[in-house]
Order: sequence, then structure tokens, then C-alpha cells
Amino acid sequence: MPLHSYETGHKREHTIGLRPQLAGVEGAGELPRFRMPDGSLDAASAYQVVHDELLLDGNARLNLATFVTTWMEAQAHVLMAECVDKNMVDKDEYPQTAELERRCVNMLADLWHASSAESATGTSTTGSSEGCMLAGLALKWRWRQQRAALGEPADRPNLVMGANVQVCWEKFCRYWDVESRLVPVTRDATHLTPDGVRAHCDENTIGVVAIMGSTFDGTYEPVADIASALDELASTSGIDVPIHVDGASGAFVAPFLDPDLVWDFGLPRVQSINASGHKYGLVYPGIGWVVWRDRSALPSDLVFNVDYLGGEMPTFGLNFSRPGAQVAAQYYNLIRLGRDGYRRVQQECRDVAQWLAGQIAALPEFELLSDGSGIPAFAFRVIDGTGFTVFDVSERIRERGWIVPAYKMPPDLEDLAVLRVVVRNGFSRDLAALLLGDLKRTVDRLNTTPLPADDVRTGFHH
Ligand SMILES: *Cc1c(COP(=O)(O)O)cnc(C)c1O
Repeated sequence: MPLHSYETGHKREHTIGLRPQLAGVEGAGELPRFRMPDGSLDAASAYQVVHDELLLDGNARLNLATFVTTWMEAQAHVLMAECVDKNMVDKDEYPQTAELERRCVNMLADLWHASSAESATGTSTTGSSEGCMLAGLALKWRWRQQRAALGEPADRPNLVMGANVQVCWEKFCRYWDVESRLVPVTRDATHLTPDGVRAHCDENTIGVVAIMGSTFDGTYEPVADIASALDELASTSGIDVPIHVDGASGAFVAPFLDPDLVWDFGLPRVQSINASGHKYGLVYPGIGWVVWRDRSALPSDLVFNVDYLGGEMPTFGLNFSRPGAQVAAQYYNLIRLGRDGYRRVQQECRDVAQWLAGQIAALPEFELLSDGSGIPAFAFRVIDGTGFTVFDVSERIRERGWIVPAYKMPPDLEDLAVLRVVVRNGFSRDLAALLLGDLKRTVDRLNTTPLPADDVRTGFHH
């Protein structure tokens, strides 16, 4: 669908009808849909119109597709409302908001084992995507400087990553003119492997992206093994490739649930880490984080220093003005929950994910690709010879309100289609049991009422 336009053949009325109680505000009882009205509505009527329209949005609690936070405590709502007018970029006017951002960066750097949290540097962003763009730019700049110092050409940068990367990395490569070198995934390894990394890196590789929590099936990529492979490459060929960890989900999960797993700044090769504050950071949409292990990992000419705060918080972002409320909410969560609170919330999610994965694995029609032991998300497929597809399951279970996405795995594995369940804070064991019941009923119906052949073939695409 083209941006901001409607599919052809999908004709929309050009006016929106108003409730009888509101009619007459503008005399007409209706509003133009695509044109700004000439006159004004009163505030209560305008509110009702927008409110009513938004009721058609999905029910977030039944949406198992998204990783993004849909519930926060009442106090967080109050704080966010209090900060709704604060502009994050205006550090001069809102120095305390900037101070909270700085504390969050320090807390995350410490959580991710930066050797001295004070020398790590980072920033809040609008989400992981922006964090990934910034981290990718830093890699590109550093590589270019190193190539220039060697007198070597720097016109063909590439970035090595699994074909399972989130779309933001393909965007990064296209927007910033970097070759995206996607390492194919296989049935046995649905994500990046040390061998794949070794085979794809060369002197033009600006970095390797390792994902903590693959979007496709929730598995952690083996960051430590990838780092070892790159250490070996460096010692045998002199090609020294840094790692960026895309911890969009996992950087807020692994520190609490897998404290012995080595994936972060504890590995010298890891130069930067991003995370989505609005995923398992448990904040409403609009916040991400990116942290570099030390200042040398972030080329200074990418950073615009604001000295009215002492020059400590670098300004590095794709946006200028953006809301400060999410930063306050992130700081609230960090001090409200503490390490123990985050551990309890994430453990509950993992327990529910693993329980549900186990129940689904016991159904004869399904096979798990992952079991929720990475981030609390897992993927499963319909076994061969069953009379229906994952797309049928996704479509049918939607009739009960559940949104369980079905999609094809990345290139080279695209004949494998899966369903994915993301367990977020608030998706309780009770809800999981309800979903399981509906899944079983859906399967029974699909088994007893064969679909038209056409339907089976084309399925349903999100
Ligand atoms: C969600 C996600 C992103 C993009 O993050 P946003 O916060 O939505 O911008 C990038 N990488 C991975 C692995 C993700 O899961």
C-alpha cells in the first residue's frame, strides 16, 4: 500500500457522519474525511469523533504480534502527562529531563557491563531503529577513518548480519549506502552463526550485527562465539571487525534472566548496544537507547556537543525535537522496579512463554522452532501433511480476537512459514490458557471443515 494513500478499489466515503447528539455543531451533521473542515468543532465533539474512530483499533491485550509495551502503572501515566510538553532536545530549558536521560544511559551501560559506566556514552532515541541507525553510522565512520589512515579505498562498505535481521538494518544499509551482507539462515540455525560470520567478512566490513532476540523466532544469537570467530579472523588475517549488538528486546531481558550469558560489553569486541525502552524496557512507545562502550567507539564528528550542560551529554540523533515524557517514564521504571523488579516481570513472561510453547508442542499439528528460552517469544510451524497452513490458523484465530501473526522465514528459508507468539508483561498464564483453548478449537475446526483449495494455497498475509 502506498504511503498515506488508500488501496485502489477501496473507496472511502468522503465524509464522516457525526452522532445525532453532536450533529449541527457545524450545521452539517458530518465532517469532511480528507479535507480540513472550514469551520470548527467544539472540543467535546472533536474528542468524541476521534475517540469513536480509535475504538476500531485492535485490542492490545490480545495482540501477540507486537513487542511494544501496552500497560504502565498509574504513576507512570501521571509522570508522562506532566512531561508531555517537554522537548528532549531542549536541554537548556529542561536540564533535569536531560539529567534523567544521562542517568538512564549510565544505568544501562552499567547493566551491560561497560568497564566504567562513566566513560561509556549514549543517548535515548525514538526507538531501536534510530539507535541502530546511529550505531551503524558510527561503525561506518570508524571504518572509513581506519581505511583513510591505511591509504585504502573506503567506497564499498558492507555490514554483515543474519538474514533474520529486523527491517531497520536493511533500511540502514539502503539509506546510508552500505552493502547489506545477509548471511543465509537454515533450518538448523535460524540465526547468525560464527561460521557464517567468518565466511562473509572482509576488509570492507564495517561491523557485524548480532541480535539478542531474533525478531523471527526470539532466539539469542551466539554473540560470544561470533566474537571468538572474529578474534580468530583478526589474528589470522588482520581484518578486525567490531560487533554491534541489536538488543532491542534482549538487552532488557538477558541481564535479568541470564546473568551468566556473555553477550555485552564484557566482550571487548562489542562496541555498541541498542535496546527498545518501549519493548521489555516496559515504557510506552517512543523510546529506545544506544550506548557505546567508550568515547572512542563513537567518532566525535558525529556528535554535536552541547556545552551548556558541561558537555557531558552528547547530542547525536536523527531527530531534533522529540518528547521527554518517555525518558521520565524509563527512569521511573528503572528506579521503581530495580533489578529485582525487572527480573520478576521478565521471568513471569518467560515462564508463560515456555509453558505455552510446551503446550503447543504437545499438539500433533505443530512443531516448535523455538521455545521462549531466549526473549519471551517463540515461533512454531504446522507440520507437513496437515490440511491447513499457518496463515489459516492466523486468520481463523483472529475471529476470537487474537492476533497471532503468520509469516515466512527469511530468504533461503522462505518455504518455512511460522506463527509467532510474543509474551509481554500482562499476558498472564490465564490469558495463555484461553489462547491455547482457542488454538485447539481453531485446529479442530480446520481439521473437520476443509478449506477451499485456493485458500490453502494462498493463505492470508499480514
Ligand atoms: C523491534 C526491533 C527493532 C526495531 O525497534 P523499534 O524500537 O521498533 O524501532 C530492531 N531490531 C530488533 C531485533 C527488534 O526486535
